[in-house]
Amino acid sequence: MAWTRFGKKKDMPGGLWIKCESCGAMLFRKEFEQRHRVCGTCGYHFTLPARERIALTVDAGTFEEKWASLRAHDVLGFTDVGSRGAVPYSDKLVQTKQKTGEADAIVTGTAKVKGIACAVGVMNFQFLGGSMGMVVGEKIALLCEYGLEHRLPVVLFACSGGARMHEGAVSLMQMAKTCGALQRLNAAGVPTISVMTHPTTGGVTASFASVCDLLIAEPGALIGCAGPRVIATTIKKELPQGFQRSELLLENGQIDRIVSRATLRDELWRLLAYATGGDPVAASKPQAVAAEADAEAEVVAAVAAADDGKARKKQKAKKA
Ligand SMILES: [Zn+2]
Repeated sequence: MAWTRFGKKKDMPGGLWIKCESCGAMLFRKEFEQRHRVCGTCGYHFTLPARERIALTVDAGTFEEKWASLRAHDVLGFTDVGSRGAVPYSDKLVQTKQKTGEADAIVTGTAKVKGIACAVGVMNFQFLGGSMGMVVGEKIALLCEYGLEHRLPVVLFACSGGARMHEGAVSLMQMAKTCGALQRLNAAGVPTISVMTHPTTGGVTASFASVCDLLIAEPGALIGCAGPRVIATTIKKELPQGFQRSELLLENGQIDRIVSRATLRDELWRLLAYATGGDPVAASKPQAVAAEADAEAEVVAAVAAADDGKARKKQKAKKA
């Protein structure tokens, strides 16, 4: 605990406030979490842990996790030498699993988005920077095979620092593997949607995240292969404003649309309805349709309650 000239400085209880990475505004954590980690001042979309993303996107109680038992192993006997000294990859995996409670950097399974069944894969940036190693590649390939077998559209949420360097060439092979699996879906006419969130970089951008049928990005997301600093020093030129951000990528045709987190679930539902041959007119008015249905249900319930009341009054009158 730090000391100030006024005495002991009180620690913030559980980090009550959080500073926006983009505009620097101080955000009240509870409100920030209610907004699903979007800055209320500038609209900056922070990275969202995989489980929170699933809870926000799919219908409650419909997510069935698959291949959760897959575990990475240290095929190369790799030791990471960083600022904290030498840490074997196998130790790092154990520590990260304990810290995050996740087995690797992606959560996969099946779910429904407003009633439409799909196969979903969500990357977790908290697990070694959302890096793609053998487990991430294998789970995406298995998800695609499952989607192909059951003709389920596949939705992939990318959030990654790229290939997992601790696995060397094995991690790079996952790029070809995931693209191959998606190609089989493409050939069979099963729709695939990629949602790129901040940040989507390296081997993930250069593979599965960029080759789906529809490419969606969250606002302001950094999406690219090599980072802007590396590119600027290599080509020795000043990079344009907003380089590698969703808005510039949309302007240049790299992605299909930008969708804010608040409307992503509705938009995904609409796109899935189009892609699976549902009613696109109904799907384009999700809230109106739902509101009408709710209003109708309320009227029916009110009429039924009134009828019930009348029947009881009649019974009472008869008894009297
Ligand atoms: Zn902000």
